[in-house]
Amino acid sequence: MVQQSETIWFDGKLVPWADANVHVLTHALHYGTGVFEGIRAYECSDGTSEVFRLREHMERLVDSAKILGLGMPYSAEELVAAAEEVLVANNLKGAYIRPLVFVGEGAMGVHPGDNPIRVCIAAWFWGAYLGEDALEKGIKVRVSSYNRHHVNVMMTKSKACGNYVNSVLAKMEAVRDGYAEAVMLDTTGHVSEGTGENIFMVRDDVIYTPPASGVLGGLTRDSIITLAGDLGYEVRETPIGRDMLYVADEVFFTGTAAELTPVREIDSRQIGEGKAGPVAKLLQTEFFKIVKGENPDYEQWMHRYEVK
Ligand code: PMP
Repeated sequence: MVQQSETIWFDGKLVPWADANVHVLTHALHYGTGVFEGIRAYECSDGTSEVFRLREHMERLVDSAKILGLGMPYSAEELVAAAEEVLVANNLKGAYIRPLVFVGEGAMGVHPGDNPIRVCIAAWFWGAYLGEDALEKGIKVRVSSYNRHHVNVMMTKSKACGNYVNSVLAKMEAVRDGYAEAVMLDTTGHVSEGTGENIFMVRDDVIYTPPASGVLGGLTRDSIITLAGDLGYEVRETPIGRDMLYVADEVFFTGTAAELTPVREIDSRQIGEGKAGPVAKLLQTEFFKIVKGENPDYEQWMHRYEVK
């Protein structure tokens, strides 16, 4: 269950949580015609608050809408201000923020016609996405029987609602079989991403991740690539076969919700020592320092705000 807040920003104003509703003939409910974001705000060690890479998330949202051909009624700057308004109105020092842009009611054919484009931003407290132990001990995953989207079937660069039916199928299959998450292969059989995360592996101190072209351009992925480079690691964006994962020294997922979650087992093969490896641990520690405002070198990634 979501830990409810008081208000949600909906089409330009704050409305009570319980009143942020839509009609059942909303186009997006039928055809998945919407785009969304997932963003985290953190309470910093000094008691202040910050949203991690807020501007870039809102730019990605605008891009996602453009890819789908949705006329976005707000600019990235306006969405940044709206997200801050929601956090402050709900007194949230740390939160998960969920903006959603979707085609509203009107035409009911597949073509969205000139149905209104509706925009909401909700925020609520959300702890560790893959479980409290996951960040520390790592998770067990399976390679999904479902492929990730072909780039000309769905638009993988758009965080489109409809894309996530594929993620839901893979996630349900994984959980049903006792795994915390799924690794998805693309239609050529190469490793692509998790159902809501990007994936990395480490072998002989070199870090590998699949090329950005067929996966969501994760902002955590981008942050970890930058951070790893700054820490002196070589990072190679290259096609990865599932067998490369099996023999990796370390594997980990990155994402706003999952943060940096180590993988300890894939398809019943232990990865490395079967727990969070040294590279994942170091990157995770440094990542949490950054989001908690303890590393001024990455101040440009923080959007500070104040809750009274
Ligand atoms: N891939 C997919 C499919 C996702 O849903 C997400 C979560 N937004 C990611 C990767 C990671 O992206 P980010 O780090 O920006 O949250």
